[in-house]
Amino acid sequence: DLLVVGSANADLVVGVERRPAPGETVLGSDLAVHPGGKGANQAVAAARLGARTALLARVGDDAHGRLLLESQRAAGVDTAGVLVGGAPTGVALITVDPSGDNSIVVSPGANARLTPEDIRAAGHLFGAARVVSVQLEIPLDTVAEVAGAMSPGTRLVLNPSPPAPLPGHVRAACDPLVVNEHEARYMLGEAAGSTPEDWARALLALGPRSVVVTLGAAGALVADSRGDEVVRVPSVEVEAVDTTGAGDAFTAALAWRLGLGEELVDAVAFAVRVGAAAVTRQGAQASFPTAEDVAAL
Ligand code: ADP
Repeated sequence: DLLVVGSANADLVVGVERRPAPGETVLGSDLAVHPGGKGANQAVAAARLGARTALLARVGDDAHGRLLLESQRAAGVDTAGVLVGGAPTGVALITVDPSGDNSIVVSPGANARLTPEDIRAAGHLFGAARVVSVQLEIPLDTVAEVAGAMSPGTRLVLNPSPPAPLPGHVRAACDPLVVNEHEARYMLGEAAGSTPEDWARALLALGPRSVVVTLGAAGALVADSRGDEVVRVPSVEVEAVDTTGAGDAFTAALAWRLGLGEELVDAVAFAVRVGAAAVTRQGAQASFPTAEDVAAL
């Protein structure tokens, strides 16, 4: 089974002709409300592929929290681990201008109240999981607790997004650490080499057991401490419509396949197909493919 520990947000989206200057008001389009947040996205992406998936997250006792629970259940996610209350559900306030550029304000809300104690109280979910997937839209001490809660037979997949400094024991628990180019550059700083292969090797030297670097249309790289070659996994050529959520779909697919016992490179080869399928449709959760969609690619 796959356990996703992470954020759940309501994405509130308004189209605008232009952004307001300080003190100014502008009128926008009708409001669209979508379920989002990296944790919620990953859980839906995995369940839609057919993975037995549970989500450990926190939402508010409000309409946005109910929307998130409903979208998880509709995808087939086990929501018994979703905690309710303590703060309003996290929201992302998103304006989109005519060129398609986003401006986003995130209010973490209940995501910021997912505590280490919440992790300790969810031991049964960790016991049932073969893979645990976590991101950084929840407090870092909660992520550290997750890394410490891993049993020997369980694998931790971590996507450090939004990027933040990771304690050594968290880095060491990752198998793999999954980063896009932006996150790779953040983690490496001045140490970043010139090619993505250099980044993969340098990231592996930071302590994780394995590293996956996603490269958008160029696919992904795999570096594993148990082997010495950096392997490039090419992507599938598709017409990209909207890349929102592609990284979440990729990571969810990767985590699921690792839980089935697949080798890392094979799991990445499947995940790039899932990521590619997700960019062919609008939206985040709405764009996530089924196993049939991936097979048809
Ligand atoms: P993020 O969405 O986190 O920025 P990437 O842009 O690297 O991460 O995308 C994650 C994965 O989604 C890629 O490894 C790839 O498999 C897939 N993907 C993203 N953009 C494209 C694209 N234009 N064509 C095909 N696949 C894509």
